[in-house]
Amino acid sequence: MKKNILLKSILLITVFTLITSIYLVINLRNSYTEEKIQELKNYTGFFETALNKSEYDDINMYLKDFDKNNEVRITVIRGSGEVVFDSDEDYRLMSNHSNREEVILALNEGEGIAKRFSNTVKKEMLYYGKYFEKNQEVFILRTAIPISSIYYFTKNILTNYIFIFLIGLGLTIFTAFSIINKLENNYKKIDDAISRINNEYYGEKLIIQDEEFKSLINNFNIMSGKISKKIETLEFENNSLNSIFKSMKDGVVVINDDKQIFYNNPIVKNLFNVENSLNERKLSDIVRNYELNKFIDLFYQEPKLLTSEIEINDKILQFTINSLKGYSNRFRTGAVLIIQDITEIRKLERIRSDFIGNVTHELKTPLTSIKGFIETLKNSENVDRKTEMRFYDIIELETERLSNLINDMLVLSEIETTKGKNIEYKVRKAVEEVVDLLSHLRREKNVDIIVNHSNNDIIIKGDRDRFKQMLINLIDNGIKYNNEGGYVEVSYEIKKDKLILKVKDSGIGIEEKDIDRIFERFYRADKSRNRGTGGTGLGLAIVKHIVKSFYGEVVINSELNKGTEIIIKIPTN
Ligand code: ADP
Repeated sequence: MKKNILLKSILLITVFTLITSIYLVINLRNSYTEEKIQELKNYTGFFETALNKSEYDDINMYLKDFDKNNEVRITVIRGSGEVVFDSDEDYRLMSNHSNREEVILALNEGEGIAKRFSNTVKKEMLYYGKYFEKNQEVFILRTAIPISSIYYFTKNILTNYIFIFLIGLGLTIFTAFSIINKLENNYKKIDDAISRINNEYYGEKLIIQDEEFKSLINNFNIMSGKISKKIETLEFENNSLNSIFKSMKDGVVVINDDKQIFYNNPIVKNLFNVENSLNERKLSDIVRNYELNKFIDLFYQEPKLLTSEIEINDKILQFTINSLKGYSNRFRTGAVLIIQDITEIRKLERIRSDFIGNVTHELKTPLTSIKGFIETLKNSENVDRKTEMRFYDIIELETERLSNLINDMLVLSEIETTKGKNIEYKVRKAVEEVVDLLSHLRREKNVDIIVNHSNNDIIIKGDRDRFKQMLINLIDNGIKYNNEGGYVEVSYEIKKDKLILKVKDSGIGIEEKDIDRIFERFYRADKSRNRGTGGTGLGLAIVKHIVKSFYGEVVINSELNKGTEIIIKIPTN
């Protein structure tokens, strides 16, 4: 760069100097010649005056004396061309001058100027001829000066000029060199700073002291500061958005014009059960689902907010799609797709609606039965005492069933809405009380209750009544769903800061297909087998909620016709 600038400026200076020097020399030469011509004219005028006064011989003498200290040559020529006087040469030896340019011009036009080499004086001369009449005779008064003095003058000027030019050029090169050096240094500093910004070192500040660069550097530093702040804000926003998207339970997918995935948060892979990256892949290649493809196509035909509920991989997913206009140059109409897993919500909704249906049904059955028997008793006059008593028994049983149902529902609601007590109690005592409470039932069913008390006197903190309720429900089930002569075994111990309570029975067991559902409200494993147990279908739902309020967990192992074991694990701290 430096070489280039230097060469260009030297060339420019040289051309400019050359043009100005040629112009100057021509001008100087012209004005010098003009001056010399004027000088010759003055001399000629003077001679003319002298000649007008004098005779030939006197003039001759006078001119010779006059001319001695002057380089101007004077010649007097007759109109015929005969030379009658010459200040420098012997006029008698001089040839006829009628063909001389200045003589011809003077004869024709009164005066004339000519430049040529004089064979007489062997010099390049400037001639001035002037028409002159004396005693009716025509003369040409000619003055001449060696023209070589003009050449010397020009040469002199040129030599000086070249000398000054060289000094000027030297100075120019030196100044240009130092300016270019300075420029180059500053250019490099700015270039380095821009490179660093390009390499993401934002906020780069420049320090250059030169006054000429003050405004540029100032603006650069302001710009750099602004970029840095903007990037910082963008990074913050980007990180925040990323964190939000990453921690979101809903899937977020950004799709470009070609329906390719441009961005997705991590949960999307779980929702679609895929492991590989989704980037730049089409949704239709990842999830082969007709409904979803149709949904996306519909959006791209007419981009507007759309929502659809689609079942994919046993999950109920709610898709909401909307356009993402002006998001980037890479998009004309991108789309943002929000995917919500609403499987649980739909399941809960179903459970709730089932619950209402179940409650109504559970209440309606005993009520219909009670109403029916009361009507029969009222309308039948000839009912014998025995039948009457049987009807009363049934009404009593159904009333008890209703009471149990309402009681269980109240217990469930109480567990769901309140936190429960948090006081210390002895597990052994609670277990013994429950076993005592249920002893009549076990006798009725002829089922043995075996309790394996822990060696230590375990004391835990929590709601004792709830603990007992949980145990009642579990042992009650163990007796109810048992066979004649069967047993229910209760054991408990502390293991790794957890109370492990096991209720095992030798009963009818539960089919595998029912195991997952028996903790649901009103769910009964096999309706035909359960008939007559008087159960409400809420017992295990209550257990589940009590364990939940203890921050514990329930495990169930059961085999049809062999028995069931329910293990409760409750943290003790
Ligand atoms: P229920 O009031 O009908 O006993 P639960 O919620 O206590 O209601 O139990 C739900 C269903 O789970 C019962 O109807 C029964 O079919 C099954 N069940 C519960 N415990 C046992 C068990 N120990 N053995 C076999 N089946 C059981």
